[in-house]
Amino acid sequence: MMASVKIDIAEDTILVGIAAAPGIAISRSYLVSRDRMAVIERRISVEEVEPEVSAFKQAVEKSKAQLIEVREQADDKELSEHLYIIDTHLLILQDEMLIGETLRLISDELINAEGALNRVLRKIRRVFDKINDEYLRERHSDIDSIGDRLMRNLLGETRESLAEVDEQVIVVAHDLSPADTVQIDKTKVVGFVTDIGGRTSHTAILARSMGIPAVLGLETVTSLVPNGIPMIIDGSTGTVVLKPSQETFRDYLQKKRDYDYQETELHKFRNLAAETLDGFSLALRSNIDFVEEIAAAREHGAQGIGLFRTEFLFMSGEGPPSEDEQLEVYRSAVEQMAPYPVTIRTLDVGGDKFVPEFNLSDEVNPAMGLRAVRFSLKEVNLFKTQLRAILRASVSGPIRIMFPMISGIAEVRACKQFLERERQDLLATGIPCGDQIEVGIMVETPAAVLIADLLAKEVDFFSVGTNDLIQYCLAIDRGNEHVAYLYEPMHPAVLQALLRVCKAAKSAGIKVGMCGEMAGEDLYALVLIALGFDELSMNAANISRVKRIMRQVKYTEVQQILENLLTLATADEVATALEVEMRQRYPQVFAERYL
Ligand code: PEP
Ligand code: MG
Repeated sequence: MMASVKIDIAEDTILVGIAAAPGIAISRSYLVSRDRMAVIERRISVEEVEPEVSAFKQAVEKSKAQLIEVREQADDKELSEHLYIIDTHLLILQDEMLIGETLRLISDELINAEGALNRVLRKIRRVFDKINDEYLRERHSDIDSIGDRLMRNLLGETRESLAEVDEQVIVVAHDLSPADTVQIDKTKVVGFVTDIGGRTSHTAILARSMGIPAVLGLETVTSLVPNGIPMIIDGSTGTVVLKPSQETFRDYLQKKRDYDYQETELHKFRNLAAETLDGFSLALRSNIDFVEEIAAAREHGAQGIGLFRTEFLFMSGEGPPSEDEQLEVYRSAVEQMAPYPVTIRTLDVGGDKFVPEFNLSDEVNPAMGLRAVRFSLKEVNLFKTQLRAILRASVSGPIRIMFPMISGIAEVRACKQFLERERQDLLATGIPCGDQIEVGIMVETPAAVLIADLLAKEVDFFSVGTNDLIQYCLAIDRGNEHVAYLYEPMHPAVLQALLRVCKAAKSAGIKVGMCGEMAGEDLYALVLIALGFDELSMNAANISRVKRIMRQVKYTEVQQILENLLTLATADEVATALEVEMRQRYPQVFAERYL
């Protein structure tokens, strides 16, 4: 094995990576070595094929056995909701491109087992590197971790186990596989940092749901940091400080105390009602991208899932999921969240959510192109499959279905027709489906706002997607950093749009929620209550923050705040007036915060 060369580290060396899981950890580094193994490729004789094939097959079997063991240990630790990740790795171990191709290189091209495996892994990595999609590129790490395991087993090396850590440490690793992560003992590993990975990698999701601060994607952290040096990580900002000075150490210790105190205080709201001092209540729900986030949603007291973005299911790279595969995911979500509802949004691809196999990349203006429900109504077989899976899952508990990017009545009617036809078809073939599914739409186009009164007659609920609504209403690309300064939730046009949607919902007697990022910002909580939202759906960690704000105010007061804001003419005036108000009312929460 090659030893990596560490350079001298100056006091207070700062590295910045991806803020993957919030919280502050102060401890010593524990380097999980991943020095690349020297893989030697050589030609073999025909007589050697048999023993090389057999060595490779043994390595595959050993890897499977190890993963199954990890799965059993994880089961003991009540982390069963993450077991599908291990199952994914077990599936990769059956993959034709990985296993079949390695065996072919050994038998047909007479390459030794490790050389053949190395070639195949390089080829797969190259394919992944070319993919222009963050989520899919991050699946790279699944291949890396399984490739490493196979190679070690082939070469007869044993891998360090994180389960063996016996003191409090911050783990420094090139990458942590999900199998590594589920082995972490939270009382020992207080945080971790890695060279690779991003916010949507499985490792990041696990870190957030396990509540371990993590900074990922630091690129070279494993070559910089030796074992056992003091370090600090701030998973909320993505900052890592190596060899902190006394002063920095004291600063962060204070920050950590503040953070931990706030978290403990916030946690107290977990089981309290989301209601104002005078008893006005609304439902606080969670947004999820993956079914395994439900554990965190429950932990934070979510009263259901207000937005399940199903597009991530379609980004596995192995083609669209079958009806049964989707059914399994939706059913698991519903069963875990019962008795609260799960709101499943049908596929929302296109725009900034690019799925390579759907070939949507050629559009000149994808944000206004074949997105979301427009795509579903064109690719009707995909749509029908998803609707059937949702209908079937609805037998297991309360499900709400939601169609994204609606811009007219005709689209809603077409979607409802598809839903009804699939329901009839399922029932005709004796497959049960629930009859209580609520049908709703995302309100995220200006057209939907303007005809909200008509749309309200067609559906059971609205959910306002402010991420897109602000983009389309103010004509600002939500992903363009040059116009980000114009992305203003407190723009009078946005407020008027929200007011109009809420009024239309109220007059029609249907529920109205919000599931854009704005719903989880405690700064806006009082405005949203005053506007009349019945439900706010957000990142689970924000639920207690919004509750904290709600529980210290009377409903009658929030109306006055809104009335005042509605008289102001510019986004700046509205935002400033709101900030002043919130600082006065909640000095502990907002006084120090940069708004
Ligand atoms: C939104 O647009 O506000 C929303 C919640 O949907 P997404 O961010 O997935 O487009
Ligand atoms: Mg949207």
